[in-house]
Amino acid sequence: MPLIVQKYGGTSVGNPQRIKNVAGRIAGYHARGDKIVVVVSAMSGVTDNLIKLAREIMPLPDEREMDVLLSTGEQTTIALTAIALHSIGVPAVSLTGAQAGIVTDGVHTKAKIQNITPRSVHELLNRGKVVIVAGFQGETPDGQVTTLGRGGSDLTAIALAAALKADLCQIYTDVDGVYTTDPRIVPSAKKLQEISYDEMLELASLGAKVMQSRSVEFAKKFGVIFEVRSSLNENPGTLVKEETKSMEGIVVRGVALDKNQAKITLVAVPDKPGVAARIFKAVGDAVVNVDMIVQNISHGAGTPATDLSFTVDKPDLLKARKVIEGLQKEIGFREVIATENIAKLSLVGVGMKSHTGVAGKLFETLANEGVNIEMISTSEIKISIIIELSKGEQAMKAVHAAFLGA
Ligand code: ADP
Ligand code: ASP
Ligand code: MG
Repeated sequence: MPLIVQKYGGTSVGNPQRIKNVAGRIAGYHARGDKIVVVVSAMSGVTDNLIKLAREIMPLPDEREMDVLLSTGEQTTIALTAIALHSIGVPAVSLTGAQAGIVTDGVHTKAKIQNITPRSVHELLNRGKVVIVAGFQGETPDGQVTTLGRGGSDLTAIALAAALKADLCQIYTDVDGVYTTDPRIVPSAKKLQEISYDEMLELASLGAKVMQSRSVEFAKKFGVIFEVRSSLNENPGTLVKEETKSMEGIVVRGVALDKNQAKITLVAVPDKPGVAARIFKAVGDAVVNVDMIVQNISHGAGTPATDLSFTVDKPDLLKARKVIEGLQKEIGFREVIATENIAKLSLVGVGMKSHTGVAGKLFETLANEGVNIEMISTSEIKISIIIELSKGEQAMKAVHAAFLGA
């Protein structure tokens, strides 16, 4: 009997009718005799609204309480989905993350899964039930509710597929699969039949929110092959799997734009050993992920000083800024400049390993658009640049047209 893990995202369960449609699809698989575990997200907009409510009360709410708050979004959807299945005669049981045996560390709002003991899931499946699991949430060994970072229902699905040794893992969303870039911004984006874990990982961590990047990391580590497909039609989706030889023939697989970045610049930092270590240790201790770092050469006469810029996720800007300001006296830099007015544009492709000229063509395309480059970073299979937020989509369209066709 095949075991299938299906995940339905926020839009797919966005209203009662959509939840009924999802139930209909699940019923079809159930009627074939498959064992089905369904992971659902909060209904679209619900998580954002809960965050907004909390921030109306205070700008930097306690993260433990945020997890208690945010986990209610998914808890609503599991019950509604189970009810929708009951209404069409399909036996179904809803489980919270904790009830499904998802154990995490205690880093609230971005907890990591430590292990999964899916005993109750197995028991329910063996009794012929469809098991509906709340995405995005888990529990620490001592019973605290945690969440897995935005988009974390993807991770719940992939991790459950690995733990249950599922035969199939399907990620249902509101587009037909993974495209060369966000099809909502660039209508000429093309659907990919397949993509390697590494490319998907880069695209995801660089802003293509179709998959949460940590979920792709997990899938790669445990070899979970998964399909991204639409909950609104029957079209075949995109298969995400290990790299094959033929994939290298394509230089650029996709383009991503991340508008969720913010930049902090420390002006005139004393240029001496240990300073960067002090800064990034403090930022790391506050559990803020740093992405790009750029340090300029020393300038001016007198004591050598340098400007140091780094990027963080927008929601972490306030926290990061507070940490840095707390170091000003000790380190003695002149000022901190924090801005949300940036975007990160990235080109990804395993073929970049063996092809040259990508950077040149990228910079030329941006120059023709009058887009200034603020920061650059590269890896074997990607190039990322920081640009002004307001020029992000224009640059994305131009770069997609240059590399992947209009
Ligand atoms: P879900 O709620 O199902 O998890 P998300 O909103 O998190 O869905 O992700 C799906 C969205 O990701 C799409 O609606 C699309 O706008 C966006 N997206 C960004 N980049 C891509 C891409 N390369 N391919 C497909 N979708 C993308
Ligand atoms: N509801 C959570 C979010 O909006 C998790 C998810 O949708 O995957 O980030
Ligand atoms: Mg998502």
